[in-house]
Amino acid sequence: MRLTDLAHNWLKQNIHPGDIVVDATLGNGHDALFLANCVGSKGKIFGFDVQQQAIDESQLRLLDCGCEKAFFLLGHQHLDTTLPPELKGKVKAFTFNLGWLPGGDKNITTQVTTTIDALSQALAWLSTNGIISLMLYPGHTEGAQEKEEILSWLAHAQTTKNMSPAFVYQKIEVPDRPLSPVLVQLKKTVKLTH
Ligand code: SAM
Repeated sequence: MRLTDLAHNWLKQNIHPGDIVVDATLGNGHDALFLANCVGSKGKIFGFDVQQQAIDESQLRLLDCGCEKAFFLLGHQHLDTTLPPELKGKVKAFTFNLGWLPGGDKNITTQVTTTIDALSQALAWLSTNGIISLMLYPGHTEGAQEKEEILSWLAHAQTTKNMSPAFVYQKIEVPDRPLSPVLVQLKKTVKLTH
């Protein structure tokens, strides 16, 4: 099974009709459409991308979706100041599908610093048991750096005692293929207080 299918299966198992979800990297809107179908007509989807082309493609792809939607021509590192404050702690799922826009300009790609910033913000917006699906592409220079630094940030964040909130995660990768995509599945958990 392809990693994208694995990612979508896991999202489907965790997202329910009426949920609030965020696609942090809209691209051509494929993930957003999948999320929109999971949340149904009573759900809400928010999306971010730095390219107008991605916003337009995504708007078009989700034209017939009944759910409430708002797409922002902004980097995901601005989600704290962009998402409606009353939704903090209520988001069921974020998707981060890193890299560049397929068929677009390969110079416009996600960057490790802003991605980690956004991931750390996203944790605070998740509900308990809320999830982040993160796809990493180490086959290009920036992607390789993202993989290395994000995996070490996750390991550090998880084990740092005062890190709030708490989470568990697993990474799924092809053995002996360091340049193949890596899927990270993260779930926010209840913080133990002792
Ligand atoms: N999820 C998309 C889909 O289903 O088609 C694919 C996403 S594509 C691999 C990565 C996207 O991230 C590109 O469209 C790119 O413009 C966008 N991107 C780059 N930097 C970003 C940032 N700081 N915040 C949000 N999106 C960003």
